[in-house]
Amino acid sequence: MNKAPFLLLLVLSVSACGPNEPTVEETTRVISILASDEMRGRQAFSPEAWDAANYIASEFTSAGIKPLEGDTDFIQDFPLYTVSTGELTVALNGQDVDPSQVVGSVSSESISWENGGDVAPIMVGAADDLMAVWRMGRRAPATLLIVHPTHKDAFDQIAGFLRRPARTTTLGGGSNMVMVLSDVKKVDSFQVQGSAEVSESSIANVAGMLEGKRKNEIVVFSAHYDHLGIQSGAEADSIANGANDDASGTTAVIELAKYFASMGKPERTIYFVAFTAEESGGYGSRHFSEQVNPDEIVAMFNIEMIGKPAVEGPNTAWITGFDRSDFGTILQEAVEGTVFSFYADPYPDQNLFYRSDNATLARLGVPAHSISTTPIDVDPDYHQVSDEVSTLDLDHLTNTIKAIAAGAVTIVSGEKTPTRIDPQTVN
Ligand SMILES: [Zn+2]
Repeated sequence: MNKAPFLLLLVLSVSACGPNEPTVEETTRVISILASDEMRGRQAFSPEAWDAANYIASEFTSAGIKPLEGDTDFIQDFPLYTVSTGELTVALNGQDVDPSQVVGSVSSESISWENGGDVAPIMVGAADDLMAVWRMGRRAPATLLIVHPTHKDAFDQIAGFLRRPARTTTLGGGSNMVMVLSDVKKVDSFQVQGSAEVSESSIANVAGMLEGKRKNEIVVFSAHYDHLGIQSGAEADSIANGANDDASGTTAVIELAKYFASMGKPERTIYFVAFTAEESGGYGSRHFSEQVNPDEIVAMFNIEMIGKPAVEGPNTAWITGFDRSDFGTILQEAVEGTVFSFYADPYPDQNLFYRSDNATLARLGVPAHSISTTPIDVDPDYHQVSDEVSTLDLDHLTNTIKAIAAGAVTIVSGEKTPTRIDPQTVN
């Protein structure tokens, strides 16, 4: 019997079990689904965000990773409340105020204020600075402003803001503010009655894990899967597809899950997380940070916009908050001798360290940094409807995902542990 075919089969089956490295075909397939028009821009509170979440979960399933401990599936959903102000009535000195001269934002189930209680009216006279008074009031639990009619324009401006429904993940802690446009000089008595209407919905992160030998030492790879949704005003194409921002990072998280799952049990536990609502409040990363013990997270690789080559050229990626821990230096060392290099964020003035989901965990001491390659200062597609797959360099995307995997090797293996970020220095 000729042994050659058998040997050939053996070689083929070994290579099929080798590391599942990302390929251009594979990253193109994934990002094209995430950034397709069917996903309608993945706005966090839209039905299509759920389509995106379920899609990412299906990729996690085929990667062979497991839900986080205590979860039954990859969808990490949590309630989101939309609070709008219901009926609001005010009487000053025994006279009902015309409702068109009253505006407020009520976050408690109901409010009932009157003279002699905890809330005292603040008179904003013709010479006072309404905007300054308003900004101060926003931080207080309860504020009643009696605003002189000379401030009508500013009053209307603030009114537009107050009338907008507020979104929150916790009820009861918000502030209540009522503004009355009136020329009364003195308030001897007042009554304010108001209520809030609350509707509940849910939004979700998608999170999975590979349990490591050191179960409680966790490395996180993350990206946000939400984007801006439909942009009114745009004519031909109103869908902000968010291919670079941040379907590219989400694709990386999916491909890294597949890659690390193919490498056998890691030394450290690895979490793969796709955050919701980065573009609208950061609720996803905040919820995630409340589900974990930050002391167990040794590093967070937050991946933001890696679909276009950086200003430093191809095969480079920059890291936000580079000097706040030695995370970046560890990555640099890990890829030394390859064509790839990591370097410090070239746009310190843009405060990018604070503008993504890494900041939430950095504030808890985690060496949590964002990795990006986008030329954000000159990118014509950033936060535009033109952020489409066709504007990306998919070879670059694929190479960057590989470089992140290579950069993470010594951290995942437990050989290197980045220094913690000092939470005192993160505002
Ligand atoms: Zn982003």
